[in-house]
Amino acid sequence: MNAQILNGKEIAAELRTCVAKAVTYLNKQSVYPGLATILVGRDPASSVYVANKSRLAKELGIKSFQYDLEENITEKELIKLIDELNDNHEVDGILVQLPLPKHINTDIILDTIKPNKDVDGFHTINAGNLYLNRKAVIPCTPLGCLIMLRSLKVSLHGLRAVIIGRSNIVGKPMSQLLLKENCTVTVVHSYTKNIKEIVKESDIVVAALGIANYVKESWIKPGAIVIDVGINRIKENGKNKLVGDVEFDKIKNIASAITPVPGGVGPMTIACLLMNTVLQCSSNNNIELDNNNFKNFL
Ligand code: NAD
Repeated sequence: MNAQILNGKEIAAELRTCVAKAVTYLNKQSVYPGLATILVGRDPASSVYVANKSRLAKELGIKSFQYDLEENITEKELIKLIDELNDNHEVDGILVQLPLPKHINTDIILDTIKPNKDVDGFHTINAGNLYLNRKAVIPCTPLGCLIMLRSLKVSLHGLRAVIIGRSNIVGKPMSQLLLKENCTVTVVHSYTKNIKEIVKESDIVVAALGIANYVKESWIKPGAIVIDVGINRIKENGKNKLVGDVEFDKIKNIASAITPVPGGVGPMTIACLLMNTVLQCSSNNNIELDNNNFKNFL
């Protein structure tokens, strides 16, 4: 079997077109969505992610407010900046790029962002709403994964799904989303025994652990759908290469669908962030978006 390659670049481009249309719609009502990004320190990968988020926001007509802060900024100073952005009417979304330096308490920072300006879905209230099956801001990476799964137009009801990794950013919210889709969900992690056996029984595999080529071809049930969230930088034949958490080249011959790395989940994450920004903006301004906007995605 040759797997369908789920082209995250293409789906993300479609989603961004819808975001751009929503921005135009809001602009016609004199509402201008704005996204503030905060980067603390100079981590090269984080700098690239934040720069891409700001660039794409601008391309879609979303105002971008970029804060590149010194590594040694205090927690108090960071909270002060977020408080100012919470009160700034030009800002609809505040994104704090993770991870933060160790001297800053991430939980406190994420809960300082007002829930209605949280575009990552990491505030306690938004995470709780997702858990309780209420209207919530959905974390961008799991949302991107779900949109790619839905693009397959197959019923997810009753499918067995395994999520490898239990982080607050990916694994846990992904489990909530798949439960909502009526999948039977297992979350495995670094302490789980027999991961291979659990993966072998699964119709959907979401790999989000951050270990290059961890999931082997022999673990995959023929016809399974494989979503690879991992981003790992490795050296191959002396060259730097980006790979995911699954053996893509082999698994693509037995899975029914698979996401590549790069060009899979990554672009979807950014497109979902931009969608969340526009959704927060419309909701904060009591404007109902034309309901065609995101109907294929939400
Ligand atoms: P994390 O380090 O916070 O969590 C990793 C999880 O994997 C943990 O729950 C841990 O228990 C589990 N784990 C570690 N080793 C394991 C093992 N041997 N077997 C089973 N489980 C194991 O990571 P994260 O933030 O969730 O990110 C995971 C990966 O996804 C990373 O490669 C990251 O770069 C990538 N990521 C990609 C995107 C994207 O947009 N494509 C977004 C976020 C994260």
